[in-house]
Amino acid sequence: MGQDLKVEPGTKVDLKDYDPDFTGKFKSEQETLEELARIKEKLFDLQALMYADNRFALLVVIQAMDAGGKDGLIRNVMSTFNPQGCVVIPFKVPSEEERDHDYLWRIHHVIPKRGEINIFNRSHYEDVLVVRVHGLVPKDVWKQRYDQINDFEKYLAENNVIIKKFYLHISKKEQEERILKRLLDPKKNWKFSAADLKERDHWDEYMEAFEDVLTKCSTKSAPWYIVPADKKWYRNYVVAKVLVDTMEGLDMKWPEPSPDVKELARRAQATGKLPPVP
Ligand code: AMP
Ligand code: MG
Repeated sequence: MGQDLKVEPGTKVDLKDYDPDFTGKFKSEQETLEELARIKEKLFDLQALMYADNRFALLVVIQAMDAGGKDGLIRNVMSTFNPQGCVVIPFKVPSEEERDHDYLWRIHHVIPKRGEINIFNRSHYEDVLVVRVHGLVPKDVWKQRYDQINDFEKYLAENNVIIKKFYLHISKKEQEERILKRLLDPKKNWKFSAADLKERDHWDEYMEAFEDVLTKCSTKSAPWYIVPADKKWYRNYVVAKVLVDTMEGLDMKWPEPSPDVKELARRAQATGKLPPVP
C-alpha cells in the first residue's frame, strides 16, 4: 500500500516518518467504496467459516489518541461482523477490583474463544500509555511491561489466538478539528470531555510512549499496524483489508458433515419426513 503499514519486528519507529494523511493508491473515498464493499462481504463469510472451523480466535486491538477514530472505525468496519460471535470491549479507567489484580487480569478475562472475534477499544497498552504519561505507577514498574506484554501475546498466539493491533495515527491538527466539532455539534457534544483538552497538552509525551509501544511490541505473534487516520475512509479501508487478508491466510476449512448425515436424509425422505431433493 505504499507507506509501510505493518511494523516489522525490530523497526525503530519515529512517528514523524509516518504521514497521517497518507491515502495510498486512492485519491478519494469514492475510489475505495467498491472494493470495501467486496471486502466486507468476504469478512462476513470468513467469520462464519472461522466459527465452523473452530480452531482460531481473532483479537483486534485498537489504540489511538483521543478523537483518533476508534469508535468510528468500529462502527464502520466491525459492524460487518455478525454480532453473534463478535464482541467489542472498551477499556476504561480500571475499577477498584481490577486495580487489585495484576494489569493483565482484566484482559485475559475477555480474550476471545475459538471461533470468535473480540475487538478491544483501548487495551492493556493503556498500561504503558496513559499510565506512563501520567506516572500512575513508577517507571521501573511500567518499563517491565513491554516484555510482559510480548510474552503474554506470544502465549496467546501459541494457543491459536490471532492478534492484530492497529494504531490509528492522526495529526495534532486533525485532532484539534475533531475536538472542535465535538464542542460545536450538539450530537457530538456529549463526547467532548475536558480530559481530551488536558491530554492534548501531553501530545509529545504520548507520541513518545506510542513510539516505544510500536518499536518494542510489534512481534511476529502480534504485529502492530500504523494506520494513517486523518482520512476516515482510508483508515476504514486499511483495517478492513488487513483483516480480510489475515482471515483468508488462515487456511480454514468447513468441517466434514458426519457420515450418517446422508443416510439420515435418505431415510427421512423415504419415510416422507423430508421432501425429495429436486
Ligand atoms: P474513553 O475511551 O474516551 O471512554 O475513555 C476511557 C479512559 O480510560 C481514557 O482516558 C483512558 O486513558 C482511560 N484508561 C483506560 N485504561 C486505563 C488504565 N489501564 N489506566 C488508567 N486509565 C485508563
Ligand atoms: Mg474519550
